[in-house]
Amino acid sequence: LVVRMKRVAIFGSTGAIGRRTLEVIAHLQPGFRVTALVANRNVAEVARQARELKVRYAAVADERNLPELEQALRGTGIRALAGETGMNEIAASRDTDIVVMALAGTQGLSPTLVALEQRKRVAIATKEIIVAYGDFVMAQAKRSGAEILPIDSELSAIHQCLHGCERSEATRREATRREATRREVSRIILTASGGPFYRRRDLSRITVKQALNHPTWDMGRKITVDSATLMNKGLEAIETARYFGIEPNRIEVLIHPQSIVHSLVEFRDGSLLAQLALPDMRLPIQYALTYPQRLPRLVAETRLERLGPLTFSAPDLKRFPCLGLALKALRQGGVKPCVLNSANAVAVEAFLDGGLKFTQIPEVVAWALRRFEPEGALTLDELRLHESVARDLTLGRCRAMGRNHR
Ligand code: MG
Repeated sequence: LVVRMKRVAIFGSTGAIGRRTLEVIAHLQPGFRVTALVANRNVAEVARQARELKVRYAAVADERNLPELEQALRGTGIRALAGETGMNEIAASRDTDIVVMALAGTQGLSPTLVALEQRKRVAIATKEIIVAYGDFVMAQAKRSGAEILPIDSELSAIHQCLHGCERSEATRREATRREATRREVSRIILTASGGPFYRRRDLSRITVKQALNHPTWDMGRKITVDSATLMNKGLEAIETARYFGIEPNRIEVLIHPQSIVHSLVEFRDGSLLAQLALPDMRLPIQYALTYPQRLPRLVAETRLERLGPLTFSAPDLKRFPCLGLALKALRQGGVKPCVLNSANAVAVEAFLDGGLKFTQIPEVVAWALRRFEPEGALTLDELRLHESVARDLTLGRCRAMGRNHR
């Protein structure tokens, strides 16, 4: 057996997922090597990582930071790149076998499509790309035969329930696999921790600091707020539908505060499969890198006898309207999931800046959704235009609401 070393480009290397990916790759030595790093705007940190790992390329998503990056990499021989062009170059590079996509928001859409077009594996953590552009991303993967593996723990759990065990060569083929999934799966059940406020009655006075204090997962700021509003689970429901090709009415959500069962799949014969482990993103990251192989673990052993009871309950959509808005957008389809994602990103940013109350996040998202008809089939450019119109409209709305509440 000849094992070829896999060369990995990490988009979003200075964020929570990026840093954990670096830990996983260090653990998987010598089978994997980092050859490119991309940060949103943390120039000092991406330059430090690039020097330490002696990568070929380092890039910043925001072009304005290129001179600073060039300066920081002077004399190292590492190529400094920036913007969509630079990111696409890394995604298409012959020095890249796997792209780990963990850049915030949808700015990683273009390099994701380029990598898939070049038939490279994409391990995707950025659910926003699948939520807003999932149809295009999955179609590109299908066209070129590229693999796309989820890093999101819930989608990884579902993927593991469906494909994490040995299957015949025929059913491992992507098309056959999706077909079998549609036929055999009756329900997909996403679990949600419920976030820090699930047991709280009054959500009107939630502060930013309280919202950023997640009980079971240590993550970036945007996703932590999304977990507190339950929008994160709504985005994952859309992500699941797009990624696995499952109809919206077969996707359900259960509150499971312990975050041990990461999601479940019910098959038509009545059997439920679940994936369990202590909450640690390094496990789904490792799975996305090594699939279909299972390599020795980096994460702590899950000893069920040492954990307390595992509990499950139906979500409360009245107190957490974001989840209901996302499930409705999923059912309506068309441009709605893209608008939901765009409006939510703006509203969360406004909340983090102190310009919006916690309970105004769903109000703003609902307002933006009412402004758009679902519409039928759109081109990628049309969809990108809708995303930016939704962003601008929501920005204006947040400013107006912020003035009133200050
Ligand atoms: Mg998740």
